[in-house]
Amino acid sequence: MVAVIGLGNMGMAMLGRLLATGHQPRAWDLDPAKRDAARQAGAAIGADIADNVADPTIFSLPHDAAVAEVLDHVLPALPRGAAIIDTSTLSPRAVRGFAEQAAARGVFYLDAPVSGGPGGAAAGSMAMMVGGDAAALERATPLLKHLTARLLHIGPSGAGQVAKLVNNLLVASHLVTAGEALRLGAAAGVAPEALLPVLNGASGRSAVTEVNWPRWIIPGSFDSGFSAGLMRKDVGLALELARELDVPLEATGRAAALWQELRAAVPDDADFNRLSAALFTGAKP
Ligand code: NAD
Repeated sequence: MVAVIGLGNMGMAMLGRLLATGHQPRAWDLDPAKRDAARQAGAAIGADIADNVADPTIFSLPHDAAVAEVLDHVLPALPRGAAIIDTSTLSPRAVRGFAEQAAARGVFYLDAPVSGGPGGAAAGSMAMMVGGDAAALERATPLLKHLTARLLHIGPSGAGQVAKLVNNLLVASHLVTAGEALRLGAAAGVAPEALLPVLNGASGRSAVTEVNWPRWIIPGSFDSGFSAGLMRKDVGLALELARELDVPLEATGRAAALWQELRAAVPDDADFNRLSAALFTGAKP
């Protein structure tokens, strides 16, 4: 048995993947419309959140506060020895607290943030970086193999979130630098359509030049399923971690500041790729 709590862009895609691979998941979301969509897709939806837990229960929630609220309902409903696989991106400090709270009830809480977006979740090709009890992860691994192409145990509780925040600080920075550098090329007469194949065969490439620009920015689709607001959350968590540890962030810190300064040009509900496009077209803070 498996349950998914939080049926947004990621949770619904994971649910679809579980259904497609022969599982019979339970599912829950605050939003009744999301619950209806999950029911129509084939998931079992009980009367309330505590009816919709299983071993493991997968979370896909927007922020620390939502996880804290859900945990209060879910922990009393889970049997001892069960595992929560939390794929949300959260603060490392918060997840260490969640793991302690779960352990007090004999439940394993693994921070298991993911990379790959809704497309990767639907295809079962996400990368998952896990912090927490290694034996609990091993027990959940046969199931998680249906969702991931790369499943890595990083270390103790919180280590998965640290890996995710470092990853997303880089993605956020790459979106800034690619938008600015491509603007320079275009101003000098070489359009992104001509530059990207060069960069992607040379040493200036990144996932942003290889995937984001060709897939979402050049065609203008901006339908990646990852919002600028969620990326701002991730960048904020990375900055908070740096402050806690007294690690100065000179270059990535400037990129992070631009994510805040460009909020009017790229609002929270916009696709996160809009930020690179905005810098390309010369948006000013
Ligand atoms: P989303 O905003 O589309 O979905 C979040 C869902 O959680 C919504 O359906 C909302 O109704 C539900 N929810 C909120 N509070 C709840 C509660 N208390 N109880 C039950 N349901 C609740 O977000 P998303 O894009 O699916 O992202 C989910 C998580 O995955 C976030 O932490 C995000 O940072 C992370 N993430 C997203 C992507 C992506 O590409 N979208 C990629 C990697 C990681």
